[in-house]
Amino acid sequence: MLSKFYLYNTLSKKIEEFIPHTPGKVSMYTCGPTVYHYAHIGNLRSYIMEDILEKALRYNGYDVKRVMNITDVGHLSSDADTGEDKMLKGAKREHKTVMEIAKFYTDAFFNDCQKLNIKRPDIVEPATNCIQDFIHIVSSLIEKGYAYVAGDNVYFDTSKLDDYYALTGHNSKDLMVGVRDDVEEDPNKRNKADFVLWFTKSKFEDQELKWDSPWGVGYPGWHIECSGISLKYLGEYLDLHCGGVDNIFPHHTNEIAQSEAYLGHQWCKYWFHVHHLNDKSGKMSKSKGDFLTISLLESKGYDPLVYRMFCLQSHYRKPLEFSYEALDNTSSAYSRLKKRIATLQQEGEIDKNSAETYRVRFAQTLGNDLNSSMALTAVYDILKAPLNDATKLWLIEDFDTVLSLNLVSKSKENTTVDAQLEELINAKIHERTLAKQRKDYATADAIREELLAKGIVLKDSREGTTWSKI
Ligand code: AMP
Ligand code: ZN
Repeated sequence: MLSKFYLYNTLSKKIEEFIPHTPGKVSMYTCGPTVYHYAHIGNLRSYIMEDILEKALRYNGYDVKRVMNITDVGHLSSDADTGEDKMLKGAKREHKTVMEIAKFYTDAFFNDCQKLNIKRPDIVEPATNCIQDFIHIVSSLIEKGYAYVAGDNVYFDTSKLDDYYALTGHNSKDLMVGVRDDVEEDPNKRNKADFVLWFTKSKFEDQELKWDSPWGVGYPGWHIECSGISLKYLGEYLDLHCGGVDNIFPHHTNEIAQSEAYLGHQWCKYWFHVHHLNDKSGKMSKSKGDFLTISLLESKGYDPLVYRMFCLQSHYRKPLEFSYEALDNTSSAYSRLKKRIATLQQEGEIDKNSAETYRVRFAQTLGNDLNSSMALTAVYDILKAPLNDATKLWLIEDFDTVLSLNLVSKSKENTTVDAQLEELINAKIHERTLAKQRKDYATADAIREELLAKGIVLKDSREGTTWSKI
């Protein structure tokens, strides 16, 4: 079944039928994490929605090849080529080498992905593995007159393009990072929007990772990484490029500039951007210091898949506000859904003919600009449908290849404990409540940890403390 798939394209600013360069095959590129810290749940919203997109395309019959980079060099604190390399900042913070930091946080990222049932892309490539590929592209851009050397750095000359701002849809100078008041101007740039392809004259003497290049010892800019890795593994015609909305400018705008200047033709046809997860104080960001991670949610007793479901409940093109109240609602909804699924018996013959009608509808829902909340509703529709239990279970498993909420396997999990353990839990909760009343938080935390070691998670709310089995 190869169904029509419609997606909002940031480039054309409308919902379009998705038609890949080679019929039935999709080349998909995702900007990967900058591995100087844990991913926060905002980053993970983007990766959950990109995961659903990949799985939705596969469900609709497309053969997807997906590539993701790991940014382990070149991403400076400001996207406008100023500030310190984020990796170096992370290494200093933890008194480790950049490579140690990169390995630690790359593993942590994929660990989070696993907990969230985010499939690992077919190819995952750290930027530091592809330095020669970047040097090749930069050399070619200089030869073609799109790049220049100034002050020992190599810059892309944005004035050489007719429509540098095609992706943002603005021609406004206000969008240019270089003209913002808070950004230090680089006197080497011929135009304010020009960006660095290769740094040799690093402002940071202690920049740890440096490579030989025709322009001296240095390191690549952040934007060239994604162009280089995408071109290397997915070729000259990219079907789909993904990222969070903050990547539209300057990162993706610069990727388009350099890739198309290098190739001499259009590079990527469809651009998919996920809107931000915000907290009450605004956009969640790693540099804010105190940020929410999946491990933190777990330590508070949430199944990571509750967060996945929370993301699926809203459309990827709408900002999403995080709150524990909202997450609690999703948590209850997830439990209720699992309980309903648990009542289904493996009885009767699977009615493949009827199931196909529901499958087609589910595929269309996904192909309707990735309507993930309606796709979730489709599970509730199955529970109410005039189908036998075996067919319902079969369809829920089938939908879950996309939703990835472990709906059937988790519904079979035993959530009860024996009477002795239950008695102990209740006694400990009481002891902990008393400890909190006398502001003895060390004891309260120790009790939480003690129960956690027994596989019991405590959750505090205004109504009191409840517990659940991990
Ligand atoms: P980074 O690790 O900072 O390079 O970001 C990884 C991905 O997370 C990128 O695609 C960003 O666009 C995306 N991202 C960053 N902040 C948020 C947020 N608050 N909500 C959703 N996605 C985000
Ligand atoms: Zn990127």
